[in-house]
Amino acid sequence: MNEFRKDFPILNQEVNGHPLVYLDSAATSQKPKQVLDVIRRYYDLDNSNVHRGVHTLGNRATDSYEGSREKVRKFINAKSTKEIIYTRGTTTSLNTVASGYGRQHVEEGDEIIISYMEHHSNLIPWQQLAKEKKAVLKYLDLEEDGTITLETVRNTITDKTKIVAITMASNVLGTINPIKEIAEIAHAHGAIIVVDAAQAAPHMPIDVQDLDADFLGFSGHKMGGPTGIGVLYGKEALLEEMDPIEFGGEMIDFVDLYESTWKELPWKFEGGTPNIAGAIGLGAAIDYLTEIGLENIANHEHELVEYALQEMDKIGGLSIYGPRDPNQRCGLITFNLEGVHPHDLATVLDMNGIAIRAGHHCAQPLMKWLSCSATARASFYIYNTKQDIDRLVEGLRGAKEYFN
Ligand code: PLP
Repeated sequence: MNEFRKDFPILNQEVNGHPLVYLDSAATSQKPKQVLDVIRRYYDLDNSNVHRGVHTLGNRATDSYEGSREKVRKFINAKSTKEIIYTRGTTTSLNTVASGYGRQHVEEGDEIIISYMEHHSNLIPWQQLAKEKKAVLKYLDLEEDGTITLETVRNTITDKTKIVAITMASNVLGTINPIKEIAEIAHAHGAIIVVDAAQAAPHMPIDVQDLDADFLGFSGHKMGGPTGIGVLYGKEALLEEMDPIEFGGEMIDFVDLYESTWKELPWKFEGGTPNIAGAIGLGAAIDYLTEIGLENIANHEHELVEYALQEMDKIGGLSIYGPRDPNQRCGLITFNLEGVHPHDLATVLDMNGIAIRAGHHCAQPLMKWLSCSATARASFYIYNTKQDIDRLVEGLRGAKEYFN
């Protein structure tokens, strides 16, 4: 897949005197020049507000903005563009569901189920909702290898469960969860399923109809798109009955002194001037990924993970978290080097031009479950190669020597 590196000019630089190896795409991915060009072209030629003007630039901006929505629809196989809401990112998408659907449907004593591997953005909104509604927040237990079994799911979901909110792929363990099967169990109990697809959408095909997801959120910046744009998918019937979260311009139909009415879906959830360039950039990112093929991207990452696991095992002294089967995980590896704080490790690697992430990865309850306060994480994308992994392994060996 080295052929794609040329599309990412940022990779072609030295950091601290070494060629850059970027292994932090799970935090944010690099953007191909095809996306940068589309954003630049929009600002150079079409910049205007959407849904307002009758002038040519306004029409062009609106066409591109709405054209991207259709690309998103196709990307996740939603039935209709009414089901595609632009947001700021996964965090906003999940908060919108908790504040909108959650507040309207969850009552005292109801259960909300999440898992120990959730990112804070799929944990705190539910924690807050549970507190507000006096609902019960329950956690799906993890197996020792960081997976969730369907038996656990069956034993945890009850007829009191209203919402199951779960990540499709963990940003720490890399675990890919069986969303379709979990959705089936949730639905059998009359609950809905909310899917955090922040680490899934960039890396594997998603079909919301096949998954039977009720809501699903993801972020543009992790999939080659710009920051500040994301998506909330919701089944039309659920979105239809959900109240808007933000009020103001763009989302209204008619405003009177004491009463107002809202636009139809999806616009009733898009109050204010939206991130127009962001949405257009996201559309370009989807074009880029679709051209490569999501299956090909997933295969490439599985290969890299398999190779990395094999090479990292040879170093000795590394604790590697998450499932061992590369097909059960997305393209990232979280680990600790015995006796070395992950921040120190990341700093030493950075001195060698290698960018990894260190910290709690916005998953403090999971850190507690792993019995550590922080970890290091290397994450891969289209542009990474086995040579990048060799550089990582070499860097880790050097760090091991340096600290011992
Ligand atoms: N969920 C997961 C699994 C993530 O990895 C992230 C970001 O790292 C998020 C949610 C939040 O995404 P954003 O910060 O783009 O809203």
